[in-house]
Amino acid sequence: MRFFGTMKDEQGVLSIGGVKVTELAQKYGTPLYIMDQELIESNMRKYKENFKSDKFQTQIVYASKAFLAKAMCQLVEKYDMDIDAVSGGELYTIKVSGLDMKRVHMHGNNKTLEELEMCVDYGIGSIIIDNETEIENLSYVCAQKNKKIKAMLRINIGIDAHTHEYIKTSKHSSKFGESIFDEKLVGIVEKIVKDKNIEFLGFHCHIGSQIFDTKAFHEGIETMVVETKKIADTLGIKIPEINLGGGFGVYYTENDVEVDIEKFMRSMIEHIEKSLDEHKLEIEKVSIEPGRSIVGNAGSTLYTVGGIKQTYGGVKYMFIDGGMTDNIRPALYQAEYEAVIANRLDEKEREVVTVAGKCCESGDLIIKGKSLPKGEKGDLLLVSTTGAYGYSMSSNYNKLARPAVVFVKNGKASLAIRRESFEDLIRNDLAIEL
Ligand SMILES: *Cc1c(COP(=O)(O)O)cnc(C)c1O
Repeated sequence: MRFFGTMKDEQGVLSIGGVKVTELAQKYGTPLYIMDQELIESNMRKYKENFKSDKFQTQIVYASKAFLAKAMCQLVEKYDMDIDAVSGGELYTIKVSGLDMKRVHMHGNNKTLEELEMCVDYGIGSIIIDNETEIENLSYVCAQKNKKIKAMLRINIGIDAHTHEYIKTSKHSSKFGESIFDEKLVGIVEKIVKDKNIEFLGFHCHIGSQIFDTKAFHEGIETMVVETKKIADTLGIKIPEINLGGGFGVYYTENDVEVDIEKFMRSMIEHIEKSLDEHKLEIEKVSIEPGRSIVGNAGSTLYTVGGIKQTYGGVKYMFIDGGMTDNIRPALYQAEYEAVIANRLDEKEREVVTVAGKCCESGDLIIKGKSLPKGEKGDLLLVSTTGAYGYSMSSNYNKLARPAVVFVKNGKASLAIRRESFEDLIRNDLAIEL
């Protein structure tokens, strides 16, 4: 397993943030999500310091769906970043964290009227409009409340990139945004611009997630600049902002390349400046929305090994005390992970095992048939790079309680999210009348 951030081998025991994982297991129990706070902060710093230009303002918007907790909102504030939300629940979490709601930008292809009302009541920074119906809904909510709101329009730029390769497609059937190839786009923009309740800021795009292909982003920049210029000229308006979305890839296994955030961001800036120059477009502000690349590598999941089972059919299982409830990604899209026996890093013997969770699903596997250090009952298995889309996609299937999340830094551990109790699991259950 590749070590990230502050991970260290301390006489055969893995430590993160200066705390041995054996101590964390003892104090907080397993399964446990461990967040390397220094690595999160260093990633935030890298984005802030390298996605910067003399020609326009820049804004880093943390994509909260990757991992949202009050602690993350505190870090967003500390690094003077913005944050996005896609639901009333995310908006509420951010609101109660005390973050200035001007930092919040609301996404979603089907925001409910209640969610739009929350956005307007909270006075959030901006709304990313997805479609025509939403213009009417938003305008209606604003009119009712006699308030204005800033908004961008999400456009589908025909670049689909969801890992190492990207596809340019002439089919535009994504459920997100309005296609730039659709003739009605100009009319939609005009409708927003003419609405007195909405202040149009510009276009937003998001071309996918876990993308390594820098060319896809560079092409995305070019397309966004060209489209902005075209529509601004057609309607005779000034369009002040562009939002390029997120999706920057992270290392999970050796099938992935390493992404250097600093280099990547500087090349993005170069391409934006060059493209704006070439097309003679002036823009006041450019935003990006990294999620996974801020928290992915910083998070790990610590499990206790329940035992090893050699099946008659040949597959050898390592059973762990969590599974698809705390990490659905392998079952959902065949995501792959690396792992170590964290309490015995000096174990030399390796064997091919399949790491299986405790849920009643054959697909409840975290690692499928890979060579891992030989583990046994009572060992601690640490799976790396679970910081993004782990906790946020977790469930209570089989009435498993969600694990705790602990932040570690400089030898100190701070509990950020408590482990769910059995009581939590039934807090909304009511007996019915028979
Ligand atoms: C999911 C999402 C992001 C973040 O994607 P990552 O792959 O986590 O960086 C950013 N913007 C939008 C609109 C998204 O849906």
